[in-house]
Amino acid sequence: MRFYRATTFLFPRNYEWRILLICFGAVHVPLIACVSLQVVTGEWHPVTLITLLLATLVGTGLGIAAIHGLLSPIARATAMLEAIQNGERISHIPDGGTDLVGRLLHGVATAANESATRIEQLITAAQRDALTGIRNRRGFLDAAEGILQGKTNAVLAIIDIDHFKLINDQFGHDAGDSLLRALAKRLEGGLRRTDIAARWGGEEFAVLFPDTQLDEARLVLERLRASVALDSELGHDSWPVTFSCGLAPLRSFPELGDATRRADAALYVAKARGRNRLQIAEEEQVEEN
Ligand code: GH3
Ligand code: MG
Ligand code: MG
Repeated sequence: MRFYRATTFLFPRNYEWRILLICFGAVHVPLIACVSLQVVTGEWHPVTLITLLLATLVGTGLGIAAIHGLLSPIARATAMLEAIQNGERISHIPDGGTDLVGRLLHGVATAANESATRIEQLITAAQRDALTGIRNRRGFLDAAEGILQGKTNAVLAIIDIDHFKLINDQFGHDAGDSLLRALAKRLEGGLRRTDIAARWGGEEFAVLFPDTQLDEARLVLERLRASVALDSELGHDSWPVTFSCGLAPLRSFPELGDATRRADAALYVAKARGRNRLQIAEEEQVEEN
């Protein structure tokens, strides 16, 4: 490292040129020695000098090309690290051989890909609900932000399992967990690929229907509600499982918070009206001054 640092004044920003310059000097040592000898002895041999000069030039050219080629793995490793920093992945891990530079190249590519995989896993874990495997609230909001760009007709639904506490009390927490998993699976299975389902918290789920009219979303959820209510296998010991749902239309991502509040209020009304039903949120009253 000391020699490396001592030579930084030669092409401080270009390592390759620094090596080339040092090699250039080294290749010229025989020529300089020959000229010095002839100066001291006063005997000039032009043919020897010209031959040595030409040989030096050819040697320098070949040396520059060879060093450039030998340094290319380091340039490649640097480019790979920069690509990883920019969030890209290395699609092809180069086979660099078993020498020092080859191992360095292979090591950089493998380590970079492993850390990219780990980062992807962490992002996925942060956005997924551990119990059900579907998105959690954070994953839902991230996906919604990407989808609700510009003005669109979307619908938000908040789903809440009815009397879930009773199921826990009656059959135990594990049975409650199984029901949450089964309902999450049912939810994802009954939606389009473009719809986003998430565990909103506890025994509540949220669904976002992008590019969807209120009636279309209501139809999908009504079908789901009826199929869940009729499915005697879903609950424990044929215990009926039902859910209530509040729906609110929205037109952009900034409206999501307000739509959540309105869907929640509608859900509360659905519960008060006897549960196992859908309730559309009231239209916002525009206040006039
Ligand atoms: P309602 O019909 O009014 O919604 O009644 P509810 O019993 O479903 O609602 P409440 O909010 O009283 O109870 C929700 C219960 O959900 C309480 C809580 O212990 C349970 N719960 C929350 N998270 C989990 C979980 O991850 N697993 C299980 N098994 N239970 C959970
Ligand atoms: Mg609840
Ligand atoms: Mg509930």
